Amino acid sequence: MNDKEHLNNIQSRYIRTLENIKQVCSQCDRSPESVKLVVVTKGHSAEDTHAVIAAGARYLGENYVEETTQKKAALDQVAGQVAWYMIGHIQSRKANLIPAVYDQVHSIDRLKIAEKLNQQLERSGTKLPILLQYNVGGEAQKHGWQANDEKSWSLLLPEFLKILALPHLCVTGLMTMPPFTTDQNEAFNNFMKLQKLRVFFQANISGLELKELSMGTSHDYEAAIRAGATFIRIGTAIMGERAYK
Ligand SMILES: *Cc1c(COP(=O)(O)O)cnc(C)c1O
Repeated sequence: MNDKEHLNNIQSRYIRTLENIKQVCSQCDRSPESVKLVVVTKGHSAEDTHAVIAAGARYLGENYVEETTQKKAALDQVAGQVAWYMIGHIQSRKANLIPAVYDQVHSIDRLKIAEKLNQQLERSGTKLPILLQYNVGGEAQKHGWQANDEKSWSLLLPEFLKILALPHLCVTGLMTMPPFTTDQNEAFNNFMKLQKLRVFFQANISGLELKELSMGTSHDYEAAIRAGATFIRIGTAIMGERAYK
């Protein structure tokens, strides 16, 4: 496969994915505009990233701040045409680098990181949209607040409220990365748990509106759309295999 073919493949997979999103939306009575496609470009070159932007991608997801910084520099003016979202676990010593590089963070997984980001944003006087990450599948190694057991959801309220009170962060929604499964029903049930958690927070915090649900990846995004995802994060199905997870 030559380079041109390789870049064409990225573009046609992007277009095909968009068409599939439209089809799933019509099946479940949602408007396609209500689902934003975040193309996950981590582990892919600036050239490949350029190809997907040229195909029309407007939201990109990345996991490592150094990688994103280099990629944005390599893409030059083109980098400004898209919104860059942090979707990976943030190490606390890197938190101060985040606001300069990303337009949103989908992966706030602990209070300490939110506080560090807020401190950093205080200096520039700006506000950053964030989503809070919850672990709805109960896997011990996954990041995010443990939210597997619905009966203990009220224990999540104190830290949620502390983050809501941070003046330079704007909590727009929730994010999850459930256990890998090829069973679409199981995937749907996991995503519905995040949907229910959203309802729980809104019912228990007066005036709160959580607009966004960031959930669903290459193998399970159709189930995520059916469960109400507003952001789906797709890497492999568009960009191809990467060297690392
Ligand atoms: C890598 C990653 C994705 C993309 O996964 P694919 O299976 O390649 O679609 C989505 N979300 C998060 C948080 C990721 O780390």
